[in-house]
Amino acid sequence: MKYCPRCGVSRTLASEHRWDPGGNVTLTRDPTHRMTLLDNEALDNIFESISQRIGLPVNNIVKEAKRKSSRHFMDALLSGMLGVVARNLASARVYDRLGEQLSSLGLGHARVIAYRRHRFLEGKVTNPYNAPAIAGDISGAFDSVEGCAGEVAFDMSPDGTLHVQIDAGSECDPFDGRFSFVQPPVVPGRNIFELCPVCRAPIDLGRHYSFDLERGVIIEKKTGHRVVIIGVIALRGLFDELANELGDEIPGMIMTIEKDRVKDIILSKGKDLDSSEQGYMRYMKTLQLRGLGNGISASFSGDTLTARVDNPYYEPLIAGFIAGFYEATTGRGSRASWTRADSGYTEVTVEPV
Ligand SMILES: [Zn+2]
Repeated sequence: MKYCPRCGVSRTLASEHRWDPGGNVTLTRDPTHRMTLLDNEALDNIFESISQRIGLPVNNIVKEAKRKSSRHFMDALLSGMLGVVARNLASARVYDRLGEQLSSLGLGHARVIAYRRHRFLEGKVTNPYNAPAIAGDISGAFDSVEGCAGEVAFDMSPDGTLHVQIDAGSECDPFDGRFSFVQPPVVPGRNIFELCPVCRAPIDLGRHYSFDLERGVIIEKKTGHRVVIIGVIALRGLFDELANELGDEIPGMIMTIEKDRVKDIILSKGKDLDSSEQGYMRYMKTLQLRGLGNGISASFSGDTLTARVDNPYYEPLIAGFIAGFYEATTGRGSRASWTRADSGYTEVTVEPV
C-alpha cells in the first residue's frame, strides 16, 4: 500500500517526516535536517528572474550547488554499515531506490537507463521539477555512491523528458567541491497539528495536497500548483552560492521577486483580505504546514509593519511573502528589510515608499 487509505498521503513521505510545533518539518531519522514544501513555480520564477535581471543563465550555478548539497546529504545517509553495503553493491538498484525517493518528494520520476560502476550513469527523468537542479541532485548522489566525480550533461526533450548523463571517465577522481553549512538555532513553538490516525501525517497535508508517486508529482489541490519538498540546507546552500557568484544584491533580488509573485497571486484572487494584525497572523499560519517557519507576531506602528517569524527557512523569502501581502492589501509600494535568523528568528519590517 503506497498511500494512506485514510488521508491519501504517500506512506514513505508520512513515515520519513515529522511536523514539529515550531514550524519545522524534519526528517524522522535526523531531526536536525529540515525540509520545506515549496511552490515549484516560485522556485523556477526565482531562477528565471535572476537570470533575466543579470543577463546570464544561472543553470550551472544551480546544478553545482545542488550537486554539493546532494553529495553532502548522501554522505550522511550512507554513513556506517548502510554505506558500506550500498557502495559495495553499488548497482543500478541503489539508483532505482534513489529514484523512488525523488518521486516521494515530488521532484519527478527518475529511471536508470545505463550504468557501469565507477564509470557512468545514464538516467531519464519524467516531470523533472527543474532540469539543472535535478541533474545536480543525481550527480551529487553519483559522487557520493561511487566516490568518483563525474562530468554531468543534461538535455531536455521536447516532450519534457530529461536525460541526464554522468561520466567519470577512466580515472576515478573524488569530487572536491566544498560544502559547509551553519545550522541556525531552532526556536521551540506550540503549534499542534491534528494527525491522521493511520499514518500520523498532519490531516491538513492530505486535505490540501495530492500525491502521485508514479509521476513523482505533488499538487496543491486548491491552486493546482505543483509543490516540491526540498531540504533547508540544500535551499540555503543554493541561494548562498548564487550570492557568492553573482553578488550581494541577490538576497534583495530574491525578496523582490517573491514579493511580486505573491502580490500577483493575492490580487488575482480578488478577495477582500483582512489586513489587520490578526489578518497577518492568519496569513502567516500557512507557513507551518509547509515547514517554512512560525509566525509569532505582527504589529503596526503607523503604516510600518513589523512581523516576527521563528525558524524562517530563508529570511529574504519570508520577507517577500509578508511584503507581497502588504502591497496587495494596501495597494502601495513598499520597502522590506529583515534581520538574520542567527538567534532562530527573523524580524521583517515593511514600510510604504
Ligand atoms: Zn494518513
